[in-house]
Amino acid sequence: MKRYMKAIRQVVPYVPGDQPDFPDMIKLNTNENPYPPAPAVQETLRQTRAELLRLYPDPTAHQLNAAIAKAYHVDESQVFTGVGSDDVLAMIFLTFFNSDLPVFFPDITYAFYPVWCDLFRIPYEIKPLAEDFSIVPEDYLAENGGIVFPNPNAPTGIAMPLSEIEDILRHNPESLVVVDEAYVDFGGESALPLLNEYENLMVVQTFSKSRSMAGARIAFAIGSPALIHALHDVKYSFNSYTINRASLAAGAASVADDAYLKETTAKVIATRERTKKELAEMGFCFPDSMSNFLFVTHSECDAKALFEALREAHIFVRWFDAPRIRNYLRITIGTDEQMDALFAFLKNYLKYA
Ligand SMILES: *Cc1c(COP(=O)(O)O)cnc(C)c1O
Repeated sequence: MKRYMKAIRQVVPYVPGDQPDFPDMIKLNTNENPYPPAPAVQETLRQTRAELLRLYPDPTAHQLNAAIAKAYHVDESQVFTGVGSDDVLAMIFLTFFNSDLPVFFPDITYAFYPVWCDLFRIPYEIKPLAEDFSIVPEDYLAENGGIVFPNPNAPTGIAMPLSEIEDILRHNPESLVVVDEAYVDFGGESALPLLNEYENLMVVQTFSKSRSMAGARIAFAIGSPALIHALHDVKYSFNSYTINRASLAAGAASVADDAYLKETTAKVIATRERTKKELAEMGFCFPDSMSNFLFVTHSECDAKALFEALREAHIFVRWFDAPRIRNYLRITIGTDEQMDALFAFLKNYLKYA
């Protein structure tokens, strides 16, 4: 084999959820929000002049960072923004998970974490969830090179109480603890208030789920000014102009409308609670989700077969070919009408299962 072929960086890539495109589909497979972004986002995009695309965007993302700092009551020096949490988390892994000690995260969690570790050659150790799929805080007390987990966790939907996150922070004064709050607006409790007491905490949130802006690719990290400064140093060593002009403006407009965020997340939460009742009546079991999806299993039907039957009917959900969860489906909460169509399909399917 040629030397340049041998030198290729071998990676097993993260596999994102399918993005099918059928006019009649019910898309419940990648945790998008069924409601549109805030009205001000639409208006901002309408006013965005194509002529401005000639110029580079602001590398400091000042307009967006200042809006986020104001909304979350922190200083702009505590805010880092990137092209979705996938970009923000990759920068965090590259910047902070840089020792010989293993990074800790759960076995059942966001599947991108081990991919970044492999890509950046970061050692890691996987901590199995308890039988009920909850995170075991005691597993995170041994010496480590960093800790990362989503809260609520994905794909389980289970929220960890803030007291347990505080336990992990208190016992890890030498480690950075990253809390990935992609779903926190759907009923979890944010760790942001703990920033005052714990300098080893970094909180990551995204505009992709609760703010209905997955297509805009915007997310942020909040932490101490020293940590955010270190993140910026790495970002400027890699790609200075990350967020495009339209997303910078649209993101700032979204953050300014807190009432709309509350209104639409409340609608998703109400539909989620109704979905829990309906699915429980049909015999499905699931952890108590505080996110915009349910992670369900049924003793009388095979998850993969059901996944495929749903796909035939153009109802898309997510099935993971992974240990412990092969008989589970992750179902995103859509509109009430979409969920009603799902319930009708499932009732009929279970009759013949
Ligand atoms: C969706 C998701 C992300 C990534 O979202 P972006 O669209 O890249 O912001 C990060 N973490 C978890 C746990 C997610 O579910």
